[in-house]
Amino acid sequence: MDESEVKAVLEEAVKSGQGPIAVYHSHTYTQAYPSATDVKLAVNNKWAGYHHIVISLAEKTRPVVRAFMISGSGNVDEEFIDTD
Ligand SMILES: [Zn+2]
Repeated sequence: MDESEVKAVLEEAVKSGQGPIAVYHSHTYTQAYPSATDVKLAVNNKWAGYHHIVISLAEKTRPVVRAFMISGSGNVDEEFIDTD
């Protein structure tokens, strides 16, 4: 989904009283860590309160899944996630 689609879906979820818990996306060629663009989108769109899950497909046979909390000021903290 592009940015406008994500915004629409998240706004609809909040309106329905079922606020989102997490947003996720994949990085096809880079590591599983929020990019500068990801942080900017989270801060600018007020997605800072959600868990951000990033999946790296850089190693095709071993996808890497990591979770982060991005603060309203743009700080990125990794969170423990059990993918077993
Ligand atoms: Zn990203």
